[in-house]
Amino acid sequence: MASTNFIDFVCNPDSTCTMDACFMAFDKNCDGKLNLDEFRVLCQALFRNNSGVTYELKDYELRDIFTIFDSNHDDFIDRDEFTYCWNNWIKVIVRPISAILIIDVQNDFICGTLDISKCPAKQNAEEVIQPINSLLDTLEFDAIFYSYDWHPSDHVSFLDNINLRKLHESSPKKDPETVQLYDTVVFEGEPPVTQRMWPRHCVQNTWGSELHKDLKVVENATKIYKGTNPEVDSYSAFWDNSKLTDTKLAYQLKMRNITDVYVCGVAYDVCVGATAIDAISSGFRTILLDDCCRGVDLLDIEKTKNTVIKNHGVVVNSNRVKNMVEGNDRRPELGYKLALNLKEQKQNSV
Ligand SMILES: [Zn+2]
Repeated sequence: MASTNFIDFVCNPDSTCTMDACFMAFDKNCDGKLNLDEFRVLCQALFRNNSGVTYELKDYELRDIFTIFDSNHDDFIDRDEFTYCWNNWIKVIVRPISAILIIDVQNDFICGTLDISKCPAKQNAEEVIQPINSLLDTLEFDAIFYSYDWHPSDHVSFLDNINLRKLHESSPKKDPETVQLYDTVVFEGEPPVTQRMWPRHCVQNTWGSELHKDLKVVENATKIYKGTNPEVDSYSAFWDNSKLTDTKLAYQLKMRNITDVYVCGVAYDVCVGATAIDAISSGFRTILLDDCCRGVDLLDIEKTKNTVIKNHGVVVNSNRVKNMVEGNDRRPELGYKLALNLKEQKQNSV
């Protein structure tokens, strides 16, 4: 029946009229409010893939969402409550505003000093370029960001700088001569700094820090530089590892009203993973693009995916993105997460 077509509802220019039509279509017993069963049917129409197949919400998720929108706790969603639900939840799910974050597709990680094919997972980072380019060629994202690992020469993460700083007494290795690549040490500091040691890489304004020549760079995209403080590393494109400095990425996304963030690039289990987790905690519906990422360690890649899923993000291949960006493939995990974010917002504003 036509009432289940949310695209028609939300895209109609007279949105008050369509909101009412939507409400009435799901208020089966015409009592002017939605009970849990009526809301369940609404959710079945809302959470569907592009072939019209319904994704089932878990029962506790449905109840949680219903409770979040039933703000006077009378077990019904009335018109006023539905207006809030419509404007802040349904509209976002059907018409998301999407950004793609392309993380660290730089020479050093692909064929330079930190070529990840030499790391335990032996993955070829160059393989991310084709699927990322294909997304950029075929889809209209509302915003595109490229991050750069962008280190000064005396950066704390470089093994060859190990003698520039004192190791803390809690460091697993206390003699700098014994520290090897990929070891984790603790440097003295207030507080002490835990740091994994990497080969010198992505030094500012060197060939190694340039984006790979085959990566499509879209005009008007925004570049984010991270790891610029010599004393602290920065895996995430949002924050450094000690959460001292904000790259302003979250601010820039919010300024553009971005709701959904797609994350891809290198290295899956390091900078991509850290960025995805920060995207989720910054309140964005977050999608990890599995076939557009390559990483360092297979076990850590699995952990990264599991962490994203556990926090109500999703992990998909890039061939699913078009329908998601266009609001034709609407995932319940992301809808549930958005409802939880709205609940948090409400609690913070009280
Ligand atoms: Zn780095």
